[in-house]
Amino acid sequence: MEISIVGITRILNPTSIDLGEYVINPYKGCEFSCLYCYARYNKSVQKDKRPWGTYVDVRINSPQLLEKELFIRKPKKVLLGSITECFQPVEKEYQVTKRILEILNLGKIHYSILTRSPIIAEYLDLLKEGFCDSIYFTVNNYNEKLKKLLEPKSPSFEERKQAILALSKSGINVIPYFSPLLPFVSDIKEAFRDFKEFKEIDFEGLNFNLGNIRKITEIIGSVYPELKPKYNKLPDDPVFYNKTWKTIKDEIELHAKQYRIRYDIYLHGLKDYFSNKYSK
Ligand code: SF4
Repeated sequence: MEISIVGITRILNPTSIDLGEYVINPYKGCEFSCLYCYARYNKSVQKDKRPWGTYVDVRINSPQLLEKELFIRKPKKVLLGSITECFQPVEKEYQVTKRILEILNLGKIHYSILTRSPIIAEYLDLLKEGFCDSIYFTVNNYNEKLKKLLEPKSPSFEERKQAILALSKSGINVIPYFSPLLPFVSDIKEAFRDFKEFKEIDFEGLNFNLGNIRKITEIIGSVYPELKPKYNKLPDDPVFYNKTWKTIKDEIELHAKQYRIRYDIYLHGLKDYFSNKYSK
């Protein structure tokens, strides 16, 4: 992993994601290197010659910039981690995200966080200061073999589950975020069973518009050969595609009713790449 210390000129970036007025990404790049990561298709990431998952730029002056920009822009709410993982292992050494949380708390700025890293639980004291509105904690439940191929460097699902439970027990608003939901693979029943005490569980379907979707579907087919024909058909057959997601949606609705848990599902239509909508 190539770790570089870099300076940037701006840390608050306006966003259409409905979880904040601005996004904060204290790192560029990500050690976890998930194959289905959207950040791979971000413009500035695409311009970079280095392959995604092989580098992390530590935006070392982010805290100083944030102090200045908060004073000028006065946001009410921001979102952390839209195209990076704020709590990836490199954070343990540089603590840029930690400093950002301290500044946001001090300025009484509310924030939401997108993460899949249990390292976030080490900042419990900061998160409990009252300005962390929600943590969307990505988790999943496909088998180890598939995980190794799709996201070999990310924390295990069990570690994530334990972190979600621990944060929630401490009074933090954590929403287990099942993503990417894989048709015929993801165990929806288990998702509800694992988080039956939660008020809300959210789901996001695999985005079949990703540039590397054929590689992803090939990998799924290599782990589940019986699903190969279905995964070959999904990106090419809109009727089958829509029917498949409708069945998944119905199953989620059924379990949500049974467990009396709120839910949100984000599904990507074919050719509808990403609409930046997370909440209802
Ligand atoms: S952890 Fe998030 S930012 Fe990092 S590679 Fe995975 S999806 Fe992308």
